[in-house]
Amino acid sequence: MAANYNSADIAAFKNVWVFCEQRQGKLMQTSMELISEGRRLADELHVDLCGILLGDNVADMAKDLGAYGADKIYVCESPLLKDYTTDGYTKVIVDMIEEYKPEVMLFGASNIGRDLAPRCAARLHTGLCADCTHLDVDVEGYVQFLRGASTLDVDSMEWDYANRDLKMTRPAFGGHLMATIICPRFRPAMATVRPGVMKKGKYDAAKAAAVEVIKPEFSLTEADFQTKVLSVEKAARKIVDLIGADIIVSVGRGIASDVEGGIKLGQELADLLGGVLGGSRVTIDSGWLSSDHQVGQTGKTVRPKLYVALGISGSIQHKAGMSESGCIVAVNKNEAAPIFEIADYGIVGDLFKVTPMLIESIKAMRAEKEAR
Ligand code: FAD
Repeated sequence: MAANYNSADIAAFKNVWVFCEQRQGKLMQTSMELISEGRRLADELHVDLCGILLGDNVADMAKDLGAYGADKIYVCESPLLKDYTTDGYTKVIVDMIEEYKPEVMLFGASNIGRDLAPRCAARLHTGLCADCTHLDVDVEGYVQFLRGASTLDVDSMEWDYANRDLKMTRPAFGGHLMATIICPRFRPAMATVRPGVMKKGKYDAAKAAAVEVIKPEFSLTEADFQTKVLSVEKAARKIVDLIGADIIVSVGRGIASDVEGGIKLGQELADLLGGVLGGSRVTIDSGWLSSDHQVGQTGKTVRPKLYVALGISGSIQHKAGMSESGCIVAVNKNEAAPIFEIADYGIVGDLFKVTPMLIESIKAMRAEKEAR
């Protein structure tokens, strides 16, 4: 930490900052989600929303971040920042925070964000709340959130409506309760936010043109690195993109009597609908699907337009990852399964009988449409 920097001097900090993650020149969805959420927080605080973008030749991406609500983008470009390294990114972000002193700093809880944010927090002597699913500054908004999301008797509690601390809410104790954490004595208040949790706003071309792009001076030399990236190799295996999918068909323990057949049915329905295959944690723990398919609290948080749950009971941890889906269709042979409490359409029946019927009727409907 620089000698003249004091993380306890709360009054010296202003503005909301978002770490805008890009990989190989492509902005990650979580950057847009966090810019959209950051806009809301900055408006509540009446301050600017700034993005910080690191890489080599990445300045062109700044306008896209502006389109989702950023007022300013700090672009730090160097061949040394071409690929993510803990050393290089931490050095530059810590230097920028010491210089510009944002009061709130958000990172996506991606592999990179989870590596980078704690390093920065430790160096800056401030707190970090990891894996947040909800953020508030405004107490009124927070009380409103609790009214809908908790069993607390908020009306009989005392609230300090002038308090402007960032209230960072995240699941705790295996998702059985939600904890709200504040960082009252140090700044910036830092949080990582799970990808897919915050809603991406609408792209606004006028805002894209208006964003202010700043290229600050910073120092970064080979001597700042303890590791060197020799090359970046993409995994040969195709990873399922659950977060970017509009349609997800997930399978659960209900396929246990014929795992291969159940996965085939789920995949066929997903392909037919133009979606991807997901699964409950049981399917991953049992080795039936790879971990990139997992939906839920310890898997991916998804918000597709359509979520089909085949043989999934609807545990708290599974629902935590998919309850915000646009339309939920559940197939389960137990009519008391909790998944039916949040399903828009529920089919009580054996998935091995119901899914082929769904597939057939979709095919028939399409054929009829084409024939017209
Ligand atoms: P089950 O709960 O066993 O349900 C199977 C369902 O299939 C039943 O409802 C049954 O009626 C139905 N069924 C059976 N046969 C058929 C059939 N032929 N046709 C139709 N229906 C049928 N889970 C997750 O999914 N994601 C997570 O991220 C996650 N994180 C966790 C984190 C922690 C800390 C803990 C403690 C648990 C976590 N879990 C997670 C596990 C979670 O608690 C449940 O155990 C899991 O979600 C259950 O998966 P399931 O619904 O597939 O299986």
